[in-house]
Amino acid sequence: MANPAANTEAWSIGRLIDWTRSHLESKGVEDARLCAELLLAHAMSCQKIQLYARYHESPTDDQRSRFKDLVRAAANHEPIAYLIGEREFYSLSFIVTRDVLIPRPETELIVEHALDKMKQRKDASFNILDVGTGSGCIGITIARREPRANVVATDISEGAIAVAAQNAERHHVSDRVALVCADLFANADGHLPADGFDLVVSNPPYVGESERESLPANVRDYEPAAALFAGETGLDCYRRMADGIGGVLKPEAGVLLEIGENQRNAVRELFVNAGLEFIAAHRDLFGVERMLEFKRTQ
Ligand code: GLN
Repeated sequence: MANPAANTEAWSIGRLIDWTRSHLESKGVEDARLCAELLLAHAMSCQKIQLYARYHESPTDDQRSRFKDLVRAAANHEPIAYLIGEREFYSLSFIVTRDVLIPRPETELIVEHALDKMKQRKDASFNILDVGTGSGCIGITIARREPRANVVATDISEGAIAVAAQNAERHHVSDRVALVCADLFANADGHLPADGFDLVVSNPPYVGESERESLPANVRDYEPAAALFAGETGLDCYRRMADGIGGVLKPEAGVLLEIGENQRNAVRELFVNAGLEFIAAHRDLFGVERMLEFKRTQ
């Protein structure tokens, strides 16, 4: 007969993590140990850090069966952020569902620059437009970190707007973040400040259809296509933004746009042709040119 003590030991938190790490690794999942810990903590409704103190304890049958389902999904490359329902961005935790792109660390670059720009000025308030806000991570973080910021955030997806609304509430900025279900700037009209926005920020879809097959499965199979793809070369959204942006900017207003690798020249040209001055290309933490900065001069 199996020794019950040994059996309990077999399913201790520590051993579950070890087993799951190697299982996920064998499926090609990145950061397998971290994934295993996050999923187990989620299944046990505790913090990841608490797992270490309870290394030799065993989860209940319920917790273990919840964990098993999560591990199965993770082995199929479902992103951990969707499985646990949140992702950290700029040290804030954002609710994420499959209606929104998972916030990425390189997108923090936009927030950092937006906050810097405002810090250098003494204005009593700033009107900021976040185009295609998704989870709301850019606009909401800006509002949370800069009390003078008033944000209008648009998204064409109603599902995304609902998630962003939860995040605005979670971070106590609902009164300064207006969420508008709209295609780029359309219908943001009702929220357009009389003299235009001081700053437009955006991480629009910019992946080319031609790259669809080469995307990792966790992105291609799970994240919303509408948040990723923008025509054959990924430039469609920028093109449409360039067409309308003049109408929403204050003179001297800034524009911060996330771009895909190697899109710098094409995107610069679109916005310069729309009458903006190109200021700089900024690199992300991986050394990739990831954000373009423009200014309205006239
Ligand atoms: N950075 C994302 C990716 O590479 C794409 C995000 C976007 O299209 N805005 O998967």
